[in-house]
Amino acid sequence: MRPFVILIIAVVTMSFIVGPQLTDKKLIKNDLPFLVDFYKTRHMNPEISLQEKETAKVLAAELSKAGFSVTENFGGYGVVGVFKNGNGPTILYRTDMDALPIYEKTELPYQSQLKTDLNGEQVGTMHACGHDIHMTTWLGTARAMVAMKDKWKGTLLLIGQPAEEIGAGAKLMLEAGLYEKFGVPNYGIGLHASPTIPAGKVGIGKGFVMASSQSVDINVYGVGSHGASPHMSIDPIVVTSMLVMELQTIVSRNVKPTESAVVTVGTIKGGTVGNVIPDMVTLKLTVRTFKKDVLDLVNTRIKEIARGVGIAAGLPEDRLPEVIIKGAGPANYNNPAMTDRIIASAISGIGKENVADEEPVMLSEDFSYYGQTEHKVPTVFFWLGTVPDERIKSNFLPGLHSPFYYPNPEKSIETGVTVTTQALLDLYNTKI
Ligand SMILES: [Zn+2]
Ligand SMILES: [Zn+2]
Repeated sequence: MRPFVILIIAVVTMSFIVGPQLTDKKLIKNDLPFLVDFYKTRHMNPEISLQEKETAKVLAAELSKAGFSVTENFGGYGVVGVFKNGNGPTILYRTDMDALPIYEKTELPYQSQLKTDLNGEQVGTMHACGHDIHMTTWLGTARAMVAMKDKWKGTLLLIGQPAEEIGAGAKLMLEAGLYEKFGVPNYGIGLHASPTIPAGKVGIGKGFVMASSQSVDINVYGVGSHGASPHMSIDPIVVTSMLVMELQTIVSRNVKPTESAVVTVGTIKGGTVGNVIPDMVTLKLTVRTFKKDVLDLVNTRIKEIARGVGIAAGLPEDRLPEVIIKGAGPANYNNPAMTDRIIASAISGIGKENVADEEPVMLSEDFSYYGQTEHKVPTVFFWLGTVPDERIKSNFLPGLHSPFYYPNPEKSIETGVTVTTQALLDLYNTKI
């Protein structure tokens, strides 16, 4: 082969592996002071799920300023921004907006001091899940994509989603007719702050990356009596104890060892004082799986075990434990071909050394809904490293939802905007 042919092949191969460097990094850097300031303001003004009124207003105003046509109050406080830039694919990029009822303990100068009324109780309010980083990265990417509009063609569909923490927001927006009104996207992307990956890096997994989440309530009935006369009772605390232990065998004995599942009993409530055997105990469980058939198996076994334990305790048919299975949010599945494309984008944006393969987790995220409608939109959801250097060094890594969690805003935002902008540009410019 002649040298120039080899050169052409090398260039073509390289551009497939790492993608052309399209992102204007200087432009992103120049926007950082504005974005960090925006982040801190959002961090100091958190709003919990279904109360994101002011947050949504701010996002809508910023998108309008950037040149998007904006629809507000779409599925609760949902925000939809559309930027049409000629003929090309439509790409959805979603941020969530809600915070958590937690008293912040970071002692940062921009620590949240806000309190919120939650069911009549005053509680602290904190962006402890990094949704403020998500919103800022999202806005930064919106601004960068408009500034670089000569480098892509298509429609950018930006979603500001409420109520992620309660698993309701994505569903609300889709049920309000998101795809019917704004079109079915060709691709969907989203990201989540990582409490373990250093700021400056990203983690991207392929296939199933986050689990489906389902709640189960179990009411265990019994026959109450004096604590000193257990022979006159059917003790629901003893029945519950047996039940909790038996539930442990679902994952260890029923689910295939090569599959993944979690069955956690998170609360047990029953009884008032030591000398009274109560007549009811309630349990609340969370069930996590990746696959539907595994979830079906777990649900079947929960029902069978609850019934079996009740019969063994001598409970009559109408007093057997009652299992209430609540709807499950789907698992997040990263389309493999699209994931390869985005890994290549991330490598060209921030360097190979800053892009890691990330193991799946049994946490869940309602971003999954965007790819689970009948349209089966290919989606990728990745982890944005946020951990400051000093915490990596001291190995103090508070998890998401911890009152001590905080990101390195500058580095996280710059990395997030660079990777998502590069990913969008690549998705607009190449077929996967
Ligand atoms: Zn969260
Ligand atoms: Zn979150």
